[in-house]
Amino acid sequence: MSLTPCRACGHAVDTSALACPGCGATDPAKKISRQERDLYFSIAHTIVWICVLGAVGWGLWTVGIPRLRQIFDRPVALQPALPDSMQPIAPALSEDIQDDE
Ligand SMILES: [Zn+2]
Repeated sequence: MSLTPCRACGHAVDTSALACPGCGATDPAKKISRQERDLYFSIAHTIVWICVLGAVGWGLWTVGIPRLRQIFDRPVALQPALPDSMQPIAPALSEDIQDDE
């Protein structure tokens, strides 16, 4: 049981007092009031959630969407390759054209 100045008015209050007898401030012996602490906690909580959601969103945007594109583009990529004997002959023709020039 010791006395400390009220954080609001400076009135000497007991460290365990719930309210200042001089001005009525809550938790007069504490540096910040319970309301302020709750406010800071809720602000910090909000910032943490914004960071978490931002990180998840960024991860989806940079990893998830390219991955989804790979999945949806796969049917085109998985078309069976033609055996060498059935390759189109167009490349050979274009080589002949280049030689003439
Ligand atoms: Zn006070």
